[in-house]
Amino acid sequence: MSSDISMADVKAAAQRLDRFAPVLMALFPELRATQGVIESALLPLNHLQQPQLPGGAAAGALWIKADHALPVAGSIKARGGIHEVLEFAESLAHRHGLLDGAPDYGVLVGESARTLFAQYEISVGSTGNLGLSIGIMASALGFRVTVHMSSDAKQWKKDKLRANGVAVLEYEGDYAQAVEAGRQRAASDEFSYFVDDEHSLSLFLGYSVAALRLQRQLVESGIQVDATHPLFIYLPCGVGGAPAGITFGCKLIFGDAVHCFFVEPTAAACFLAGMSNPDRPGISIYDVGMDNQTEADGLAVPVASELALAQMRPMLSGVMTTTDDTMFADLYRLHEQEGMKVEPSAAASLSGPRMLLSSEAGLAYLRQQGLLHLMNQANHIAWSTGGLFVPDQEYRGFLEHGRTVVTMP
Ligand SMILES: *Cc1c(COP(=O)(O)O)cnc(C)c1O
Repeated sequence: MSSDISMADVKAAAQRLDRFAPVLMALFPELRATQGVIESALLPLNHLQQPQLPGGAAAGALWIKADHALPVAGSIKARGGIHEVLEFAESLAHRHGLLDGAPDYGVLVGESARTLFAQYEISVGSTGNLGLSIGIMASALGFRVTVHMSSDAKQWKKDKLRANGVAVLEYEGDYAQAVEAGRQRAASDEFSYFVDDEHSLSLFLGYSVAALRLQRQLVESGIQVDATHPLFIYLPCGVGGAPAGITFGCKLIFGDAVHCFFVEPTAAACFLAGMSNPDRPGISIYDVGMDNQTEADGLAVPVASELALAQMRPMLSGVMTTTDDTMFADLYRLHEQEGMKVEPSAAASLSGPRMLLSSEAGLAYLRQQGLLHLMNQANHIAWSTGGLFVPDQEYRGFLEHGRTVVTMP
């Protein structure tokens, strides 16, 4: 399966986003400054504790890929979710001749496009952020949108969707059940398109485009990536599509010089369960004694994407798990020391460098890869996946939780 997807597919997704730039710019004023490109900054983290080996030797520079501030969707889902909505809109527009003779995609914000799109429903199962990205993008184009959510999803995410004209259906039970309900309902309706987080190639490729963008930012930041300058990337993982898409793109570009790790909550480590049990497809966290109880709602997923698992088996360096208290402590430190606002899921990435550099397993990996003596030339990127839209009151609660952990005697 892994040989089926190539750099040509990643570039095709990047080109699709380019073609839609005039549309995005017309629909979202906040994208005028970037000519319709949705992208985040790569920033140094100068004030947080710097990466160190046991004994205190410097172990490279620490960076953040600031997807917590991605415009339009406020999370990493802007990459995959928006790409899939645009791909569907593009295929409809072609099928109905809307793009014939058009100078660019600007026609897709016109009346005839809206009339066409309004006949279709786009639906998705979501813990929150995927629904936000699909809901905001699809309703802006004129689609009807339904988001299937588990009842424990954050209230403010449901409210924000409803304020955008999105129908939110709530389900008792977890994320996987909400996805299944949405999939069933859409299957019986030819005017309904279901974004399937557990299987979607379009989502995966949308995420993978981040690697091309990162490549340019690394050059601009003067960061070398090669056999003697290893790059470590730490990606929070829910169902696995986002971190797998990004890892896939990064491995295509940087090969053995990049080392990608996923970070999951200890209570919801579905990717770890999937990677450790290749003979048990569809294995859930409940099968291995985890209970899905985590405040990192973007990562509260019981079953990993099979597509992501299949792609990652040959190339992922490892999966780490971290506790809610640690995520809240890092969320708090990011705010206090770097002035950045992230949600708990995003803060999981900051556990990455510490676990690599202080755990037995992490150090064994570095030894086995022959990297220990090169660590002072390493770069570490914590991928920060969401936060922009978190309401102030909610965020103050997060900060308070984090402060309590950090200042605990
Ligand atoms: C969705 C999400 C992730 C992980 O993406 P998956 O594709 O589910 O693995 C990480 N952080 C945040 C904030 C998210 O919303």
